[in-house]
Amino acid sequence: MTSVDSFSQKENMAASNTAGCSTPSNDDNDVPTYEYIDINTKPFHFGTFENLWKETLNPKYYSFHDVHQETEDEEFGQEMGIPPETVNELKVICSLDTLRCCPENQPPVTDVVPADPGLMTLRMRKRRQDYKQTLHREFTCRQDLYATELESLGIGKKPLNPEDMLPEGEMTITVNVLFPLIVERFKQVRARQTLQVLMSHKLTQLRDAICCLQDLQVSGEFSNTPDTAPEFISKDLYKSAFFYLEGIFYNDMRYPEASDLSQTIREWAASHNFPTFQTAKMEETTFRDLKIKVGYPYLYCHQGDCEHVVIFTDIRLAHRDDCLDRKLYPLLTYKHRMISRKCAICNLYISRWVTSNDSLAPTDPCLFCEACFRTFHYDPQGNKLGQFLAFPYVDAGAFN
Ligand SMILES: [Zn+2]
Ligand SMILES: [Zn+2]
Repeated sequence: MTSVDSFSQKENMAASNTAGCSTPSNDDNDVPTYEYIDINTKPFHFGTFENLWKETLNPKYYSFHDVHQETEDEEFGQEMGIPPETVNELKVICSLDTLRCCPENQPPVTDVVPADPGLMTLRMRKRRQDYKQTLHREFTCRQDLYATELESLGIGKKPLNPEDMLPEGEMTITVNVLFPLIVERFKQVRARQTLQVLMSHKLTQLRDAICCLQDLQVSGEFSNTPDTAPEFISKDLYKSAFFYLEGIFYNDMRYPEASDLSQTIREWAASHNFPTFQTAKMEETTFRDLKIKVGYPYLYCHQGDCEHVVIFTDIRLAHRDDCLDRKLYPLLTYKHRMISRKCAICNLYISRWVTSNDSLAPTDPCLFCEACFRTFHYDPQGNKLGQFLAFPYVDAGAFN
């Protein structure tokens, strides 16, 4: 159950209790309720939702400090209406030490697994046994094998400087950024990145954390002046971008040279009798100000036409097992690993250049690493050899 679910239930229960009736109330727009079951919620205001959580919950439930065991036992006893002796007795009886599947002196028989086990561990064992019997090999996808690697790095991480500690009661929002639509493969199915942002973050902080190859492209042909190529990264040249969330274009206008990329769309919409779209500045909007749907596909557009689907998949209170270093947010919890394209000559290093109309190359276009490109196409004095066009190549796998 997601935090959204649990909050809805809790709120509905609270609402029905106060109203003295058993029908859950779904009228409150500030509490997430499903628009389509298991897909997305109706739009709700993040800031109001945060306040409702904090009004509803006792602060000790989202405190980052460990609750003292004795206090916890005492509270448990009071809640259940049982004396401390019974609590202690229960602890002994339910202790892991008393959990046995066979007499103490005998080793457990691990070969016999019930036909239809309910426990996950037994199911795993059964699967292993079945696998051995059939010798049917199941390869784990590399992506799945390391899917939780980044996320586990941040678990429980505390800051070196106490001032960077995440405040208790801070809310985190999980965002999936999909591959751009121009990437045919995975364009609508796989997240390129999963990030955790804080409620207090501005939209620009999410924008800056999104890593897209289109931002790193170096446009232009540099066969005559290969040394100047790295000075022209697209992100530095074309700084405009927008998020389109619930009918509002949030434009990044931090830089004087940035333009309103949504203008063309809004003008087109106006000339075709669509409702008027609103605009806002990305750098002036925090996630607390947003009123959007969780689980719903929204749009992030940059570099003019590089469009990504962005989905806010969860919103919840931070707890003590989360990364507690505020400076590490927006926190990257997943990124899809890409295959690197190697140099056509050495087949060892990642490609940095792609050539075209190249009389020296075996294919057109042809990929080269930095060293092979230079030695193959230029003499020791740096003079160009033969005729070819050279473009800087940014390899998708270089950022794995
Ligand atoms: Zn992009
Ligand atoms: Zn090479």
